[in-house]
Amino acid sequence: MKAYRYLLRFSLLSLAVILAFSAASRLLFFFRLEAKHASVIPSLPTIILDAGHGGEDGGACGADGTPEKDLNLAITGMLADYFRMAGYTVVETRTEDRLLYDEGTPKGHKKQSDLRNRLAVAEQYPDGVLISIHMNSYPGVECQGLQVWYSKSRPESALYATAVQQNVKALLQPNNNRKIKAATSGIYLLNRATIPAILIECGFLSSPAECERLANDSYQRQLAFAIFTSLSQKIEEKACAETEVMV
Ligand SMILES: [Zn+2]
Repeated sequence: MKAYRYLLRFSLLSLAVILAFSAASRLLFFFRLEAKHASVIPSLPTIILDAGHGGEDGGACGADGTPEKDLNLAITGMLADYFRMAGYTVVETRTEDRLLYDEGTPKGHKKQSDLRNRLAVAEQYPDGVLISIHMNSYPGVECQGLQVWYSKSRPESALYATAVQQNVKALLQPNNNRKIKAATSGIYLLNRATIPAILIECGFLSSPAECERLANDSYQRQLAFAIFTSLSQKIEEKACAETEVMV
């Protein structure tokens, strides 16, 4: 009986030691894993923000005379703030009311030179994501709602476009049933860009109601924030997945 008790006590003790050892080694493993991950910070892409039009090219014009170029610049500026606050490096193709054509470009070639230079800015950042901001217009007053176009050169472009299209619908425009569209040769920047690239038509200036919203500072902030959260979430998911593969 005494031998049995001794054996039982010994077995329980052995079991406790084994469990403690197992727990300690598991703990150590997690600590090591944590340390390994902590030392590898996912690298975020450079965000290239492109405010469409500028200077003598006003872009689309609202029913009340609001020029597209000003709204593009306002929303791009807000996006730049959000991305910078989140720790991204941000590059803007323009921060002023001007086109980017080369000096001395003859009339009739300025737009082409401007687009070439915008693309050249984006292409300086092979790790970048290009986001071009525009406003839409269509004959009549019925058309409304944001729509995102994406470049076909990289698969991420469609992912980013979908995230923006879906989140803006969920957060701001419940009746917006527009679908993302692949860019054709008509959209120079998206057609030529080799980095992930999207173009966001934020809404229709031809609709007096939507034009009024788009010109409103607090609506611009809501829209810019919805675009920022959609993109940063997708971009960071991708960056984390790539880091997981590396460690
Ligand atoms: Zn435009």
